[in-house]
Amino acid sequence: MKYYSTNNKNVKADFKEIIFSGTAPDGGLFMPEYVKDNRGEMEELLRLPLHEKAARILYPYVSGITEAKFGQLCTEAFNFPVSIKKLTSDLAVAELFNGPTLAFKDFGARFLARIISYYLEGEAGICTIMVATSGDTGGAVANAFWGMKNVRVVLLYPSKRISPLQERQLTTLGGNVYALEVTGTFDDCQRLVKDAFADTELKNKYKLTSANSINFVRLLAQSVYYFEAFSQIALASRQVRFIIPSGNLGNLTAGILSVKMGLPVHSFIAALNRNRAFLDYLETGEFQPRSTFQTLSNAMDVGNPSNLSRLKKFFNDQVDLMRQNITAFSFTDDATIAKIKEVSDKYNYAIDPHTATGLLAYDKLPVDEKLINIVLSTAHPAKFLETMDIALGAGMVQIPEPLLKLKNLNPKSLRISPEYSQIKDFFSTQFN
Ligand SMILES: *Cc1c(COP(=O)(O)O)cnc(C)c1O
Repeated sequence: MKYYSTNNKNVKADFKEIIFSGTAPDGGLFMPEYVKDNRGEMEELLRLPLHEKAARILYPYVSGITEAKFGQLCTEAFNFPVSIKKLTSDLAVAELFNGPTLAFKDFGARFLARIISYYLEGEAGICTIMVATSGDTGGAVANAFWGMKNVRVVLLYPSKRISPLQERQLTTLGGNVYALEVTGTFDDCQRLVKDAFADTELKNKYKLTSANSINFVRLLAQSVYYFEAFSQIALASRQVRFIIPSGNLGNLTAGILSVKMGLPVHSFIAALNRNRAFLDYLETGEFQPRSTFQTLSNAMDVGNPSNLSRLKKFFNDQVDLMRQNITAFSFTDDATIAKIKEVSDKYNYAIDPHTATGLLAYDKLPVDEKLINIVLSTAHPAKFLETMDIALGAGMVQIPEPLLKLKNLNPKSLRISPEYSQIKDFFSTQFN
């Protein structure tokens, strides 16, 4: 399989290059040259356990790994389930947060980590995974790479814009994990990472590799849970509509990828918070990056979603075609709080603020007997205790063991302003 750049079809790379290079040399994002259509073997595929689904679906995109070894890597990466919570006859929640850091980012991060460690086996030198996080990516990546001896992880997170428990997940591991607290927004963090990758000298010297969703390997892993959720809920007589709490649009892009792979999905809904650059794009056909608002669903506080360029390619740069398949809605924090409370009262079920936007989007949709709606639940509510306390009253959400443990650990991070010179200084003082 070859991959091409969204900026230029003639800029190509193989699998190993796209893992380690982040963006394409021309600044575009990598896309696979073709996507294998699995429709001929769909029934059999859907019956496989999760890790075997992953191995079967993803092997065509990989090179340089035997099928047996790849199966083993998938078994290690996809080692936690997708659970389905049915709310009504046409509405279900797919819980994607059963991994070690309690957010769906564990799928992409664990798969990427297994692939990278496979390729680094026996190689000299240390590779540096650099990642900007709006809250959950950093924790998932740090956890997935923690303790690997020829990898170090540098995390950039926006100061005071992630939840306290999310921050602890980033700052308490130590060892090969370095946390930078940036006094700016997520978009600032994302820009600093982009600048670092554009700095060829720095990139080569420290073997920079991206674990953001600009890395296509993460999206590959995410396409698998669409098959998994579908297999657990789809009935022959009804079609599925996925509702996705969205920020950087990686999750949504992975969903479109799963359709290209043959999964029969009716349509997609992108649920957004006040940060509605993608909705504005769908409405106007013109993309304008926006400055970000801080919201309660902080992992979706993105004004310049990096995966939009991939989405456009999947729809041949035709916004009309995209509109036929994707609808977006934007919601306020007040509505989000009210939804968390309503779902708790009605179903005795606690949802996090991101998942709440998905359930708000469901309310906007006309009833259609032919459809089952699946809201992707992207994080465990205990990661957002402050918000859950406001919505439900204090102490209503049980804190799972992995989060309880964090309370007793010492956080450590370095605060920097959002200027590229600070990144350069950090690398030269820490790693020389
Ligand atoms: C990352 C994240 C999102 C947004 O996902 P994208 O792929 O960036 O659109 C939504 N919810 C949670 C909890 C997240 O961590």
